[in-house]
Amino acid sequence: MPTIGEIINFLETKAPLSLQESYDNAGLVCGDRNAPCSGALTSLDLTIEIMNEAIEKKFNLIIVHHPPIFKPLKKLDGNNTTTAMLIKAIQHGIAVYAIHTNLDNVIWGVNGEISERIGLQNVKVLSPLQHTHQKLVVYVPKEHEEKLKSALFDAGGGSIGNYSECSFNSEGIGTFKPLEGANPFIGSLGKRENTAEIKIELIFPIHLKFQILSAMHASHPYETVAYDIMPLANEFNEIGAGAYGDLPYPMEANDFLRFLKDTFHTGVIRHNNGPKRKIKRIAICGGSGKSLINNALQINADSYVTADLGYHDFFIPADNMLLADIGHFESEQYTSDLLARMLNKKFPTFAVLKSARKTNPVNYFL
Ligand SMILES: [Zn+2]
Repeated sequence: MPTIGEIINFLETKAPLSLQESYDNAGLVCGDRNAPCSGALTSLDLTIEIMNEAIEKKFNLIIVHHPPIFKPLKKLDGNNTTTAMLIKAIQHGIAVYAIHTNLDNVIWGVNGEISERIGLQNVKVLSPLQHTHQKLVVYVPKEHEEKLKSALFDAGGGSIGNYSECSFNSEGIGTFKPLEGANPFIGSLGKRENTAEIKIELIFPIHLKFQILSAMHASHPYETVAYDIMPLANEFNEIGAGAYGDLPYPMEANDFLRFLKDTFHTGVIRHNNGPKRKIKRIAICGGSGKSLINNALQINADSYVTADLGYHDFFIPADNMLLADIGHFESEQYTSDLLARMLNKKFPTFAVLKSARKTNPVNYFL
């Protein structure tokens, strides 16, 4: 039986908290990381029904997409739904964990799942985040090159898209003079040493910096390691908000809207007129995605599928793009399937269930 902390650590390797937006409050909301996990329930939102379901099933972890605490709370007095639910969670020893915009900002997260449901091909991030990676340059004696490189790769360095173990290696001569108090691996005190060294260069995601530097120090023979860390302005296709890709074949706008309605079981789709041409390139953003309308226009999307659009938003694309609001819950509903699937794969012998309860607070009066 994994501990709650082990489950959280796994989720955070997939969607590091450092990728959450500044306004967000993802992470462990309440609960004990050291407690063994008796079962985990996944849901888009935390509601009293979801809480009761976890109690009935004797599960002590609820993983939600939307953080139950968003604005700071001043009292935990049970006088509103949020605090009443949290008191109940604590009383029953239930941990609540929110995986929110950090899961929006990785291509294998919320938007990857939506892309999969729509059947998009060649999927990329719509608005890549910047400053997600850094570059490590480290100098090592030739005979220790392989050991160090393997340790850096194992710690998550050198991955670019569908390629792992990417690095550049060049030979050169390193110099150093050990001073009093030094305990050099090579050379002697007060004498300049010239050593054949390899310069290894590789990139790594910033959230793995601690692991990368620990691996470097543990696998390097020198007492004092010479290395540089450099910021990068590169953007990566996997890290950022929204996603876009192509339908396997072009569709008429009405057929595409019907397909969306069926796939996302939405009561109503609000949309603009859209272009006359067929629809093939699709941009998406689960949840409130109005801020990415212009990004969708920039990549020449035929349609942008999102939620929470206001009246004026529908004017923005004019007739250049079919803008479709399929509902917030509807767009993100498969996130709980994604979380349950990810956890079942990692911890196959342990109970993870997607709650069957719909938490959508919006109804459609037809
Ligand atoms: Zn949302």
